[in-house]
Amino acid sequence: MKVRVIRRRVKTLYTRSRIPGVDWSVNQYVGCSFACPYCYAKNVVGEKEGEWGSWVVAKVNAPELARKRVSGRVVMSTVSDPYQPVEAELKLTRSVLRFMDKRNELSILTKSPLVTRDIDLFRLFNSIEVGLTVNSFEGREKALLEPMTPVMKARINALQELHDAGLRTYAFVSPIIPGVTDVSDIVEETRDFVDHYFFEVLNLRKAGEGFESTLRENFPESHRVLTRAELFRAFIDGLISEVRSLGIRGEGIETHFRGWGFVRL
Ligand code: SF4
Repeated sequence: MKVRVIRRRVKTLYTRSRIPGVDWSVNQYVGCSFACPYCYAKNVVGEKEGEWGSWVVAKVNAPELARKRVSGRVVMSTVSDPYQPVEAELKLTRSVLRFMDKRNELSILTKSPLVTRDIDLFRLFNSIEVGLTVNSFEGREKALLEPMTPVMKARINALQELHDAGLRTYAFVSPIIPGVTDVSDIVEETRDFVDHYFFEVLNLRKAGEGFESTLRENFPESHRVLTRAELFRAFIDGLISEVRSLGIRGEGIETHFRGWGFVRL
C-alpha cells in the first residue's frame, strides 16, 4: 500500500494522557502504516485522511516542541508507531529525541527493530525505558492479524540489543487472543533481556467490526471465548494464574473486562 505523508505544523506535542500510569503522550506521527487491522488508534484519530495505514501525519515542528520540561511519565507513542517505515527516511522521531529535555521520564513503545538506531540518544536520558510489542503471531496468524509489522524474531533481537546496550527494557505482550497468543512462550523467549512486562488482552470492541469478522471466520474458538461471558471469565482467570506463575516482574494485565479491568501483578 502506498503511504501518503501529510506534513503539518502543530501547536503542542505533549498531551495529557488518561492511560493508567501515563501522564503525557507524545505522538510526532499520527496514523501508522503498519496498519494493524485490530489497531485501536484508528478509532481515536478517525479515518478522515483515508483508509487506516494509507496515510501518516508528520508533525514537522515536533522537535522544537519537544524541548518542554514536563513532570511525570511520558509515553511515545499512543496513536502511532514512532519507528514505522517512514521514520527511516524522515528521522522525525530521532530529531524529537535529540531536542527533548533529557530530564523527562520517557517510555518508548514500538513494534520495529529500527528503534535500535537511536540507542546513542536513549543513553542521554536520565530516566528511560524502551519497549517492544510482542505477540506470537507467525505464518498464517501473522498474515491475518498483523501482516505489515516486523517479524517477531526481529523484535526479540531488538530487545536483546537494547538490553545489551545497558538500557531498561520492557515487553508489551499484546494483543492476547485466546488460543493464539502464547504468553508463556513469549516470556521464555525474552526473559533474559526484558526487565518487566505489561500484558493486554485484545479489546474486541475497540478492534472494530472488520477485525471481529476476521476473527470469527478464521479463529472461531478464540472469537467464542472473547464474546461469551462464562468462557471469557474462565480464560481471564487462567491467564492471571499463568502470568503470576511465570516468576517475572509483571506490571499488570489489561483485561478489558468489566469487574477486573487492569489487574496488578
Ligand atoms: S503498530 Fe500500533 S499504532 Fe501502528 S497500526 Fe499497529 S497497533 Fe496501530
